[in-house]
Amino acid sequence: MTTITGVKCIRTRSNGTWGIVKITTNQPGLYGIGSASDHYHQRAVIEAVESMLAPKLIGRDVSRIEDIWQTFYTSGYWRNGAITNTALSGIDMALWDIKGKEAGMPVYQLLGGACRSAVPCYAHAGGGTPEALLEAIQGYLDEGFPVVRCQLGGYGGGGFIPSEDAPRPANAWPADKVFDDEAYIEAIPNMFEYLRSKLGFGPKLTHDVHEHLRPQSAVALSKRLEPYRLFFLEDVLSPEQVQWYRLIREQCTTPQAMGELFVNPHEWTPLITERLIDYVRVRVSKAGGITPCRKIASLCESFGINTAWQEGGDNDPVNQAAAVHLDMSSWSFGIQEENTFSEAEYAAFPGACELSEGHLYTNDRPGLGLDIDEDAAARLLNLEDAATPRYAAEDRRADGSIVRP
Ligand SMILES: [Mg+2]
Repeated sequence: MTTITGVKCIRTRSNGTWGIVKITTNQPGLYGIGSASDHYHQRAVIEAVESMLAPKLIGRDVSRIEDIWQTFYTSGYWRNGAITNTALSGIDMALWDIKGKEAGMPVYQLLGGACRSAVPCYAHAGGGTPEALLEAIQGYLDEGFPVVRCQLGGYGGGGFIPSEDAPRPANAWPADKVFDDEAYIEAIPNMFEYLRSKLGFGPKLTHDVHEHLRPQSAVALSKRLEPYRLFFLEDVLSPEQVQWYRLIREQCTTPQAMGELFVNPHEWTPLITERLIDYVRVRVSKAGGITPCRKIASLCESFGINTAWQEGGDNDPVNQAAAVHLDMSSWSFGIQEENTFSEAEYAAFPGACELSEGHLYTNDRPGLGLDIDEDAAARLLNLEDAATPRYAAEDRRADGSIVRP
């Protein structure tokens, strides 16, 4: 029997926001790696892996992934929190990596085998002006990306107005710019009007609201964007307001993508089973790894919903590989968010998925197909940068109230 002999979490990336779980076994040279990265609370996740979960894992049979997942899911009694899910994800992915290595097969083979030859991705295009954005989109289309996300600068871009132009209280808190719902729901349809006039309706385009809007503004924006036939509109509501998707459905056909902040089955299950969204965007590591996400993909298949696992800038190559193995083997796959890394980061993860002409490719190595070079990973880490606390954006409205990030 192959048993677990060691569990540790390797902190890496310059800013220390990547946590890679490494599980070693009683078989010489046999180990697995998993993603337990958290851009804001990495030290808490490392503590959860090494102090809370590792002691109970030592000596367990590596083959029992489902049982280990279920056991550790409730091991702290309270569950479905981002920190414990992320820690559990690192363990879960590492166990799938080990199972693949023992079987001599890539993980996607264990999940049922390939049902596509590669994984189509969407790129992130941004520009401070519609003209600059158009140029960025054209670049990604030329590169071969089948879908492109379109943003007017950063998240909320198009909705910010200079503070001096906004009606603000006499005792207003200092701010250079403020977010305004009405400005946003005017600017974004105008942006797509311009893009469609230049590109036509051939290119598949998305937009990410990043939950900035009030719910009634979200309904209005979804309806106003209908003529521009988006591939999907992302996070038009915050997780606290998902009941509003029913009203959006009644108003328009703009496809909806939601879920990158979800950590709890009670969040995604009703949206899927009531067919209130079109794409589920859970981050694999935030749901707890491959084990829960393959079940989400199956649930999606039954209800005609597609997956679009969240990736984006702060994810690591191991989480990307886990998403790609799910994508390769899930019929309910819709699209994959792209992510790329620096040369030094790729060097620390030999065998990482390859992104070429808008598609991600895995290799046929057993397990997740990639490794961690621990010396190279240690060299990436900048201790001073890693010691700096990190917080989500703090955008505010004219009266000073905070906007959901
Ligand atoms: Mg997003």
